Amino acid sequence: MRLIFKLLFSFIYILSFSSCIDDEVSDVIVIKGVTIFDGEIVFRNSNLIFCKDSIISISSENAYPKNAIVIEGYGKTVIPPMINAHVHVMDSINLFDAQRDGIFGMLDMFTTDSRANYFKGFNNRLYSSYYYSSNVGATVPGGHGTQFGINIPTINNLISPKQFVTDRLVAGADYIKITQESSMNVLSDSLLELVILEAKNSNLISIAHISDVRNAVKLAGFNINGLAHIWYRKGSIIDSIEIQELKSRSVFVIPTLSVIEEVIKSQIEEINYLKFSEVQSEVEKLLENDISILVGTDSPNFNLNYTTDYFNELELLHSCGLSNIEVLRSATSNIYKAFNLNEFTFLKSGGKSSFILLSGDPIERIEEIRNEKRIWKNGIEL
Ligand SMILES: [Zn+2]
Repeated sequence: MRLIFKLLFSFIYILSFSSCIDDEVSDVIVIKGVTIFDGEIVFRNSNLIFCKDSIISISSENAYPKNAIVIEGYGKTVIPPMINAHVHVMDSINLFDAQRDGIFGMLDMFTTDSRANYFKGFNNRLYSSYYYSSNVGATVPGGHGTQFGINIPTINNLISPKQFVTDRLVAGADYIKITQESSMNVLSDSLLELVILEAKNSNLISIAHISDVRNAVKLAGFNINGLAHIWYRKGSIIDSIEIQELKSRSVFVIPTLSVIEEVIKSQIEEINYLKFSEVQSEVEKLLENDISILVGTDSPNFNLNYTTDYFNELELLHSCGLSNIEVLRSATSNIYKAFNLNEFTFLKSGGKSSFILLSGDPIERIEEIRNEKRIWKNGIEL
């Protein structure tokens, strides 16, 4: 039986080359003897074989056609597309800059409907990072998100939670963002519950801005899918019962440590917020309790950029106790799973040939994520 399977596999394997080769030229590319992080686990000294827009195999054994193009992979690492799970895109340039550094997807966490549609117009461009958006976030008059002087719809006497969610769906939002900033006006508990419920009924996940742990736990109880920040207000130390609530509801967290560090630094007296080391301990508790952690920077707040500051966020997560593999999962597969991103998958045979070939080894030294990169998107080298 095993032999039959093996023969069948070899047949399919050879067949998968056939459309790529004629007598003279080959479209098969082999990255040879490379370290591969597939989104979940690491393969050392392996060959990544791909042809046009699909991966043929990841293996230390499989042979490849004689006329394949061989790229020496020694001392290099292949990783899948990285995603930034919390940004606010201001200009299409941001999308191009991110893609150039290997950040294939950007999740906008509050913008206007018209800007979101404008940026989605770039999604078929090879050199542009893929744009997703909540569009306008759910807030109330005087709530977080209304302070920027832009006229946005809020949940009020005229717009119910159901209407708000329907409007975002019609406008093409990919998920619903809720703001619950305790220093400003907030949605009542019953409105919060309704927004989350209406999002679920429309098959949209919901993510909340919070700064206080009590709001985080309350929202978990209302079945929020994710939190857009780690909590950082004074007194926001989660206890063991509260963290169980987050865990049992499978809430994911985008800590955005880069921006939280800046917020804490910006206060004149240390009265409003936790110390940054205390915030790091809160992230460590997420890790200890197997709560999914996602990489996001909240650029351009505090002038954070869409490129190198992303790598700084990876290093900050590592400083909270995440292993380098856990950091890389937070930048890739944790985000694909949390947001059901169909455009992005683990690296696997039959999967898309979209990945990064990096000089160095970020699994050993996370700072090497900043090293020189060659990037393939749908089989095309950028
Ligand atoms: Zn934000």
